[in-house]
Amino acid sequence: MGLIYAIANQKGGVGKTTTAVNLGAAFARLGKRVLVIDLDQQCNATVGLGLDKDDQPSTYDVLSGETTIAEAAKAAGPDNLWVVPASRDLAGSVVELPRLERPNFQLRDHMGEIDDHFDVVLIDCPPALGPVTVNALVAADRVIVPVQAEYLALEGLVEFLDTLSTVRREMNPTLELAGVLVTMHDERTRLAQDVERELRDHFSETVFRTVIPRTVRVAEAPSYGIPVTDYSPSSRGSTAYIALAEEVISRGSASRHGPGARGDPARERDRPGHAGAAG
Ligand code: ADP
Ligand code: MG
Repeated sequence: MGLIYAIANQKGGVGKTTTAVNLGAAFARLGKRVLVIDLDQQCNATVGLGLDKDDQPSTYDVLSGETTIAEAAKAAGPDNLWVVPASRDLAGSVVELPRLERPNFQLRDHMGEIDDHFDVVLIDCPPALGPVTVNALVAADRVIVPVQAEYLALEGLVEFLDTLSTVRREMNPTLELAGVLVTMHDERTRLAQDVERELRDHFSETVFRTVIPRTVRVAEAPSYGIPVTDYSPSSRGSTAYIALAEEVISRGSASRHGPGARGDPARERDRPGHAGAAG
């Protein structure tokens, strides 16, 4: 089967949900069968993909052990795209999970038969390093960390990477960092350029070459319940997310158990191109 990517950062408003929705749609456009798992009680990915919030069964039911991801998956608006909706009940998971026998493994233990159905799975995480995010990191093969191109971007990233190391050491030894993604980049501002440079200096190849520009189209699309790739296919935001999907694939989309699955994704690609500046 394909890889499971957690899209995570404990900071809110950095572009996690936007990336889950639009990267998912971009993969779908490239012919992949994509599943987006919404783990945030705000349900923004669910709504952004055209479903109602509090639709059931939801990821809350999965984390409670009532159902599996495979059973809860529903067709989203765009072709090739499915979603397991979130519900506001997820607020309760923070207190309920620790009471279970394997609190950090609920998602992993309840994925169900997804192998034959999906080529890529993207998990949209809540803005916290609590038990719900840990469940995502335990179930995932790779992590994509969106970082907003603004002041103090590095703050929090180090803390997040520490959590990643802990999860890898204690619960999921094959978990890899797919990459850090610069989002909401405004190329006209010196600040955004400085932040991008600082990130690349610190984390070098770990930072995706593709940068997501800040655009009105990306911000507008969710209010129509469709990804930007459908709302405005030729826009810069849409082009950037397609480029990101291609870059993620080039960094190693080999099957979980096949060759490449354990390779260091940061070493695997060397393509020029800066989608933020293109189109
Ligand atoms: P998170 O899931 O990390 O909390 P979101 O993806 O919800 O962050 O993004 C936060 C806000 O920023 C949302 O209102 C979203 O529409 C907006 N946003 C995200 N990415 C972009 C972008 N590339 N251009 C313009 N607005 C964006
Ligand atoms: Mg979000």
